[in-house]
Amino acid sequence: MTSKEALENIKKGYDTLKELVERDIPKKVCYDNVGRSECPSCDRNYLFNGRMNRNKYCGYCGQRLDWSE
Ligand SMILES: [Zn+2]
Repeated sequence: MTSKEALENIKKGYDTLKELVERDIPKKVCYDNVGRSECPSCDRNYLFNGRMNRNKYCGYCGQRLDWSE
């Protein structure tokens, strides 16, 4: 491995880690124009479990969710 390749690997690892950390910071749930909740990160509606309880994390991308108004 060249030093340049090693640096690329470190950068990739850093980006992945950064993504994980950012996903773990709660983001406020978004609402579309008809008032349906959607994920602030991926805009998808995977925010409830089978019993229609609010999920703490987006079921699609894993974004941590903040349900406070
Ligand atoms: Zn999501």
